[in-house]
Amino acid sequence: MKFLNIFLLIIALFTFSGCGIQSVQTGVDNKDDAEQSFQDDETVLQEEKEVDFFIAVHLDPVMAVGEQDTTLRPDRYWKSVVDTVAAADEYGQKLSLLMNPQWGSYLLENQVLLNLAREWEVGGHELGMHYHGPEMSTKWSGYSNQLRFFPDPNFQGTTADAMIIMNQIPADGQIKTCTVNDADAPYEFPEGVVYSTDGGLYGYEDLISTPESLRLNGQEVLQVLHAKYGEGGKDAVTLEEIKQAIDGVEEGEVIGIVFHDKAFGNDPTDILELFDYLEEIELETKSVKEILAAY
Ligand SMILES: [Zn+2]
Repeated sequence: MKFLNIFLLIIALFTFSGCGIQSVQTGVDNKDDAEQSFQDDETVLQEEKEVDFFIAVHLDPVMAVGEQDTTLRPDRYWKSVVDTVAAADEYGQKLSLLMNPQWGSYLLENQVLLNLAREWEVGGHELGMHYHGPEMSTKWSGYSNQLRFFPDPNFQGTTADAMIIMNQIPADGQIKTCTVNDADAPYEFPEGVVYSTDGGLYGYEDLISTPESLRLNGQEVLQVLHAKYGEGGKDAVTLEEIKQAIDGVEEGEVIGIVFHDKAFGNDPTDILELFDYLEEIELETKSVKEILAAY
């Protein structure tokens, strides 16, 4: 493990000693030995481009209805999230950990866990927000701004109440990124949050997007899309499609993928395969807030 770390450090030093811009080489053909002598000439012609790629992890609020006032789900899947971050760190990849308020409460109840999350943040991961509004039915987080949901026994508070919890999670006291389900986003998008991630239902269509400015809940928000990956499902993209996206993405476009809190714990195969590939092509992902701050 120590040798691997040193190796990664050397790669990191090499990568950052240049122009400081993350670049990835494309158009590399696999040449057999007979063609080796032409390779040097072709290397000069290889195109280099900057690729903005983020990996979002959705930390959901409940496993069953009636758990809105508990931290049962974070307790169940905390280890899976810890293992996800550890694997990402081993490969030098950055995650955007987008949490429903139940995860915020879980961290605030345990200083050791909050300290660990803050270490992740220092390491380049983002501590952001995810929000299941009432249209998510049994998967509702319990928070809503709509009066008709206030009497519901599962009601926990408004988005302002959720933000009181969530803004205590990042060290700078302000959540930057949130994913809200489409049907609720116009009423429930949380106050003060400037970046939105959306999508996941349309496979490859959601894999590459151009940051789009839109109004949600009366606020100007910059939004990018992410496609499902790493936990199966017919609406998910494959690693081959991600490779295709990396080859085809153009300047001003962003690649994004998303999986859930439990995905790595259930089966890490797909996620590790992606990390292996990103290492092979020397592509370092960035958090959503880091990518969108440049737009
Ligand atoms: Zn979710």
